[in-house]
Formats: sequence, C-alpha cells, structure tokens
Amino acid sequence: MSKLVIGHFYPDLLNLYGDRGNVLALMRRASLRGIEVEVKRISIGDDVKNGDIDIGFIGGGQDSEQNIMADDIKNVKGDVIKEMIEDGVVFLTVCGGYQMLGKYYEEHTGNRIECLGALPHYTVGKKERFINDCIYEIEIEGKTVKVAGFENHSGRTFLGEGEEPFMKVIKGHGNNGQDGFEGAKYKNTFCTYSHGSLLPKNPDITDMLLKLALKRKYGEDYEFPELSTETEDLARKQALDYIEGKQGIQQ
Ligand code: GLN
Repeated sequence: MSKLVIGHFYPDLLNLYGDRGNVLALMRRASLRGIEVEVKRISIGDDVKNGDIDIGFIGGGQDSEQNIMADDIKNVKGDVIKEMIEDGVVFLTVCGGYQMLGKYYEEHTGNRIECLGALPHYTVGKKERFINDCIYEIEIEGKTVKVAGFENHSGRTFLGEGEEPFMKVIKGHGNNGQDGFEGAKYKNTFCTYSHGSLLPKNPDITDMLLKLALKRKYGEDYEFPELSTETEDLARKQALDYIEGKQGIQQ
C-alpha cells in the first residue's frame, strides 16, 4: 500500500479561515484512493528532517503569530525546509505561510519580519486590506481550470527571479493588486493567498499535489488512481456562482 506523510507546520499558530481544510482534503482524496496518510504536526520545538515528509503545509496567520514563529522558521527549521524545497518535496503554503517562505514581510506598521528566504519574493503590508472572494485560472496538464478562492491580507507580495506566479487573477487582488497574478511556484512548492480553504472545492489542485508527491516518492511510473471530482465540483460551482453573482449560497 502506498503512503504519504503530510507535515503540517505551525498548526497551532498559522491556521486562519479554515486552512486546515487543505490537509483534510489531501487526506480525503488520498485515502479514497487507498493511499495511507499520516499527518505530523510540526511546530516550535518539534524536530523535522529531510525525508520525514512527502508534503509540507503551512497555513496563514495574523502578523502577531508570524512574529512568534519567525525565529523558528528562519533560524531553527530554516535549513531543513530549504533543503526539502530544493529537493522537490511538495509544499503548499497559504498567505502568512507564503509570506514567511520569502525574504521579508514588512508589516503596515513598519516592523520588518525577516523570513526564511527559501523563495525570492518579499512582502510589504498596507493599512488597507485586500478582502475578497476570488476567481483564478490555472493550467493543469494542459487544461485551464477555474479556481474559487478567498483572500484577506494586508501584505502585497512581489515575486523575485526564479519563481513564477501560481495562478492568474480573474477576480480579486492576488499578490499585490497590480500585476494580475496570484501566488508563487518554485519546483514543487506552491504558494497562494487563498484561504477558505482552497483545496476542498478545487480538487484539480489537490490531485496535482498528491500526484506530484506520489510520483516523486514511487517513481514516474506510479499509476495515480482515477477518482471522481463530482462532489467537490458541486462545491466549486456553488462558490463560483455566488462570486459571479449568479445565485446566493444555498443553506
Ligand atoms: N498577516 C498577513 C497579512 O495580513 C497574512 C494574513 C493571512 O494569513 N491571512 O498580510
């Protein structure tokens, strides 16, 4: 039986607007395929080595919580996380977690949080927050997929050399409200501003992450089992219809 280990980093500090739902969605779509899943909670004081996990997840947080975990992610776990990212371990990071992988996050107060620097982006906070239901577009295996999302951030993130945007913004502000892009991508690391959570209603992204992790672990020949997306597609349709103003959310 194949097995995936998910490392949920700082679950006690970075977990806004249902971010843990991403871990649940990964677990659910893996276990429905007969893949065993173990989730390790990795916070301040917990050890992790390269090789321990197949997928890393870091959620979003408030500035105050980012200040609490900044030293740990930069100075304690920093080298290991960087090594994992370079080695192609699959990562999904959301909002505060996305910011913390970059070089720095300057809060709107002017306080600068030095971040891990695993990816070359930087973030500058403004008083006016970007709070929106969002629609993005992404290409997965040659197919253009519409993604339903939700953003709530004061940070404006600017990508650096060597990383690419994760998705295109159709509605919402995305990285900085200027360049039309959302999130970042580097090797098998994907960063997004989208909470809500992202994966339960966007199964193509869930499957993309699972497939990457399984092929990395078991080889390119690993046959990723087919699984219907019917239920999640209903959730996405409901969210997209609501965002596009076609109907209210049904209770
Ligand atoms: N504190 C960060 C900001 O406001 C991240 C917020 C979040 O994770 N939602 O930009």
